Amino acid sequence: MRRISIFGATGSVGANGVDLIRRAGGPAAYQTVALTGGRNIARLAQMARELQAEVAVTAHPELLDDLRDALAGSGVEAAAGPQALVEAAQRPADWVLSAIVGAAGLVPGLTALAQGGILALANKESLVCAGPLLRRAAKASGARILPVDSEHSAIFQALGQENLESVQDVTITASGGAFRDWPLERLAAATVAEASTHPNWAMGQRITIDSASMFNKAMEVIEAREFFSLRPDRIRVLVHPESIIHAMVSHVDGGTIAHLGAPDMRHAIGYALNWPRRAPLPVAPLDLAALGSLTFRAPDENRWPALRLAREVMAAGGMAGAVFNAAKEQALDDFIGGRIGFTAMAPRVEMTLQALSGRAGFGDDPADLDTVLHWDRAARKEAAA
Ligand code: NDP
Repeated sequence: MRRISIFGATGSVGANGVDLIRRAGGPAAYQTVALTGGRNIARLAQMARELQAEVAVTAHPELLDDLRDALAGSGVEAAAGPQALVEAAQRPADWVLSAIVGAAGLVPGLTALAQGGILALANKESLVCAGPLLRRAAKASGARILPVDSEHSAIFQALGQENLESVQDVTITASGGAFRDWPLERLAAATVAEASTHPNWAMGQRITIDSASMFNKAMEVIEAREFFSLRPDRIRVLVHPESIIHAMVSHVDGGTIAHLGAPDMRHAIGYALNWPRRAPLPVAPLDLAALGSLTFRAPDENRWPALRLAREVMAAGGMAGAVFNAAKEQALDDFIGGRIGFTAMAPRVEMTLQALSGRAGFGDDPADLDTVLHWDRAARKEAAA
């Protein structure tokens, strides 16, 4: 029986992963090794009981007693804190879903990669912060990283066995998020509640706000570069309000292969779970006649300056990705906390990149995890409101 673990099980992606395991037969189909969460102890305990996990881990040590209580009599081990997350990632598993939000997903993801097996990666932050480290860890252990972000799963599927040499460019689509059609002058006053709604996808709050600002798309552009070793000028973004086409791969012979599907994360997670086979998934079939039309427009970089910043980050290389992600996370914390406005996030990230770009080592690829964490901390400090 395949052994699986889900990091960030209580979140939006994680819960979709749990749903697929449940529908496949739960403990009768998969041996669940570890399920992890943060503050949602009740949900974590319920999932761990249902899938009969070996261990359930909360990221927060002060919640260990609550988790123990919630798991009493279940036979599921309870653990808490960053070291417990690492130990959970060290337990051998064939398939690990990396679905913690933010740079907090980096260490568990890297640890899982060192064990071999498949890392199904939703946590784009780890590739943006430390792409070379992840690739090295995978090479050393023989692990395989599979994309779970829907756009990257779409590129992966559209590429198939094609030779990268024949790829002219890759297009990632973007719904445009909550403020796609807002007048620009209204954006500065946008509230957290307004930014936390998405026209098509049901996702965690942070990625939903990042969709409104297009920081999520900027992260995805960098993620695509890291994942597929694409030249930055070969990665395009196209606004596609219906979110039906997730990505397209255009070849030098003028042919373009697009990946289409309903906006449901269970497709990309399930594809990574069943890879290299395909198996039925609880995803609504596409009905293009009912949809009638699909629309597209070029992204407006006045509205979404994060897209320009992504290009600058890729041009800079080295630690720019780690600084970009950490500054973006800090700016997002400050927006959610009411300390800065919606349109102040991008200038704050840009100022942080500028401030740190002069420091020694900024342009060097990360030598190790400590280097990445050092730049992450420096960027958060610089970006804080
Ligand atoms: P959510 O906010 O819904 O869930 C995040 C998960 O991480 C929860 O299990 C949460 O626990 C846990 N968590 C939060 N903080 C920490 C921490 N410091 N240490 C350990 N665990 C923590 O996020 P999403 O599911 O939306 O996103 C997860 C990842 O997947 C992100 O990297 C995102 O960019 C990516 N992604 C998401 C998509 C989506 O559809 N949502 C699509 C593609 C990619 P708890 O809730 O219990 O506190």
